[in-house]
Amino acid sequence: MSANQATKKTAAAAAVEPSSSTHEPRYNPAEIEPKWQQRWADQPDLYSVEPASSGKPKYYVLEMLPYPSGQLHMGHVRNYAIGDALARYMWMTGHNVLHPMGWDAFGLPAENAALKNNTPPRDWTLENIAAMKRQMTRIGLSYDWRNEVTTCLPEYYRWNQWFFIRMFERGLAYRKKSKVNWCPECCTVLANEQVIDGYCWRHEETLVEQRDLEQWFLRITNYAQELLDDLSRLDGWPEKVRTMQRNWMGRSEGAEVVFQIEDSASAPEDEHATTRQAGTAVLPPREDIRTSGRSVTVFTTRIDTIFGATSIQLAPEHALVKEFAATKPELAEEVSKLVSEQKQARDAADIGTIEKHGVFTGHYAINPFNGERLPIWVANYILLDYGTGAIMSVPAHDERDYDFAKKYGIEMRIVILPRRTKDPANDAEEAVLPYTAEDSILINSGEFNTLGNQEAQHNMSTYAEEHGFGKAKVSYRLKDWGISRQRYWGTPIPMLYCEKDGIVPVPDDQLPVLLPENVDITMEGGSPLTRMPGFVNATCPMCGGPARRETDTMDTFVDSSWYFYRYTSAKDDKAPFDTDTVAYWFPIDQYIGGVEHAILHLIYSRFWTKVMRDMGLVKNDEPVERLFTQGMVIRNGAKMSKSKGNVVSPDEMIARYGADATRAYSLFAAPPDRDLDWQEDGVAGVSRFLGRVFRFVNRYAERAQSTRSAAKTSSPTSQALIRKLHQTIRKVTEDFSGRWHFNTSIAGIMELVNALTAAEPAINKGEVSDADLAIILRNLVLLLAPFAPYLGFELWEKIGAEESLLRAPWPEYDEALAREEEIEIPVQINGKLRAVIKVAAGADEDTLRDAALADEKIKAAIAGKTIVKIIIVPGKLVNIVVK
Ligand SMILES: [Zn+2]
Ligand SMILES: [Zn+2]
Repeated sequence: MSANQATKKTAAAAAVEPSSSTHEPRYNPAEIEPKWQQRWADQPDLYSVEPASSGKPKYYVLEMLPYPSGQLHMGHVRNYAIGDALARYMWMTGHNVLHPMGWDAFGLPAENAALKNNTPPRDWTLENIAAMKRQMTRIGLSYDWRNEVTTCLPEYYRWNQWFFIRMFERGLAYRKKSKVNWCPECCTVLANEQVIDGYCWRHEETLVEQRDLEQWFLRITNYAQELLDDLSRLDGWPEKVRTMQRNWMGRSEGAEVVFQIEDSASAPEDEHATTRQAGTAVLPPREDIRTSGRSVTVFTTRIDTIFGATSIQLAPEHALVKEFAATKPELAEEVSKLVSEQKQARDAADIGTIEKHGVFTGHYAINPFNGERLPIWVANYILLDYGTGAIMSVPAHDERDYDFAKKYGIEMRIVILPRRTKDPANDAEEAVLPYTAEDSILINSGEFNTLGNQEAQHNMSTYAEEHGFGKAKVSYRLKDWGISRQRYWGTPIPMLYCEKDGIVPVPDDQLPVLLPENVDITMEGGSPLTRMPGFVNATCPMCGGPARRETDTMDTFVDSSWYFYRYTSAKDDKAPFDTDTVAYWFPIDQYIGGVEHAILHLIYSRFWTKVMRDMGLVKNDEPVERLFTQGMVIRNGAKMSKSKGNVVSPDEMIARYGADATRAYSLFAAPPDRDLDWQEDGVAGVSRFLGRVFRFVNRYAERAQSTRSAAKTSSPTSQALIRKLHQTIRKVTEDFSGRWHFNTSIAGIMELVNALTAAEPAINKGEVSDADLAIILRNLVLLLAPFAPYLGFELWEKIGAEESLLRAPWPEYDEALAREEEIEIPVQINGKLRAVIKVAAGADEDTLRDAALADEKIKAAIAGKTIVKIIIVPGKLVNIVVK
């Protein structure tokens, strides 16, 4: 520690307790907090749920479970402080609260650590969990640890395997060879959702590569439409998250059209080949044309422009291209160039701006609408995994097609024009290309001429369907979820490969397929499991012969897709959860976490819920009723991170200021949905405030208890304090039920405490009765409890309250008592009394000015005159000078 830091520390420590009097007890969180921590630990039922028969309304509040890295960071503390304040408020408002916590405990860092420290991933993970649990307990978070879920333990992951087999039986889990995202740093496959702008989601500087691999997929696309539709029901979710999901699913309406491929042996010579570059012109229909029996299917969102198609464009890796290239070495060579150009652009994440290249294959496809023969090209900007990997190119009416056609001199044909068109022939000549407007009418389109584009899309899709060469089709950007990972520290995929029987699931009574321990982790050559004969060699349950065990493990997002159901019956060893208990608790009333999970976790878990519903396991369609995404914790202008060297450790803050001050500060410093700029001075300030509360309550606790039956007073001081109290109760209550602006809640409590300390001379003179004092102290402690629970419990005991603070009823405010007392203020014009207005007793200058100028008599008196100035004496008078 530097000298500067040391000075700062001393100053801060002093700032915690600037006690004015030596006889007074000082606020010492280092004493109070461990004491209560021990008392809470002695009551294992403290945060337990009650049976449904309690009749209380249920409330399930959940913070996203952390990855057990070994250290909580401030972002965690903020997330948990929000959830904890809410849970406590819900208990105090009479709810049956479920507030659990667990560990997203599989994943790559454990393997990296194993490699670095020579510690088995399991040991490393469990040690980290123990350390983080100690931190959470020290912070005083109200978790029911009896329902703790740790995803890397067999009692949890056996149910991942069970679900996987159920999905396999339903055709929702399948294996296929495909192009996959590969992170060379992770040495494993990534889901599309884990590739951020071409980079690995864990390795911001590592470009993701494409590889061909056999993989297990979950058929999330079966639920694409429902996942999209149900977003509109999630009105308790932030709009930005719904928009991100909608964009990710990327629904587009269009049509699939099948183009037959001309038999090149029977085809006549390219009539234009001699005069123009091959493949640049559409050839007219021929009666005697023969098709090859092969076809290419394109997906288009603009079937209304199909008469303007002048070529077909295939992705370089399209199966047809391979076929064409097989007999044409010069084409094969060109195509391999296009493949590598596309790969480069993809790796650099700018496929959108790739310089477009292509090559004519020498083949033609027949436009089923008019029999025309369209040259088939291969182009580097067409992606195999979007749509069908083939498009019809309409250069007159599509930006990208236009660029490509312009470059290669491919024919353009105008088939749509603006609606106002009177003279199509003339207008077409003057049209600026590409013309892509939706609101248009058709020309040069045979029997579909003069139709509007909407009608044309409908009629042409129907026509295609009636004639058996196409249909209307909805396409999604969302792809099936690739869950195979070639890593060790994950759930083994419970499948066997038998020479006789093919792919065979592990029978339920042999679950879990245990992840072996004592594994040699090298990070090279795929999963370490492949090198363990004891794991790989198995017996086929169908034929009893030898079988090979699947060595891929599941994406860890499988674990987090359903963990929150397990919290409701974490010890169940007969089923993933008890369906009746889940029916009681779901959906989750409030889920709290970072917006970085808007796509991955929050789409996967919605999908999982819908699958479980279709299996009859749950009744809810959606897992989460309300979602809250808190802002980041930043310091010195950047998100706290080790690499930026701007991390503040929660342990350090707690040691210096206490857990209450640290968490209350994280709620006070900014509205929870905004970024929080961490300022240590601010933590010290909150700590001083808690000290003031501590001393104030201690000073008057005895008086408040001594004469409970004494009459209330009605002195002006007493009335003002009671009014302020009710206003504060109203403010904090409204913040809990509204936008969660706990920063203003805590500011409101601070104002109340300021008013109380300012009134101490009057209190000491007996102008506030003991009964009123008792009311004030009790409610002050109740208001503070969700934000600073240690101090809350300490003071609750101090004022002699008997029931548990956790379930003490939340204070109610009296609207009449909260109302400001009204006073009459004379309003003068040029010194002459003209009106009397009624305003709240404490009204400020702006309020007085507005009220005076809004008065009808004053308005009439100053009409047409110029206001020179307005003199305001708050509480006394308003004088308007006019001329
Ligand atoms: Zn990576
Ligand atoms: Zn077999």
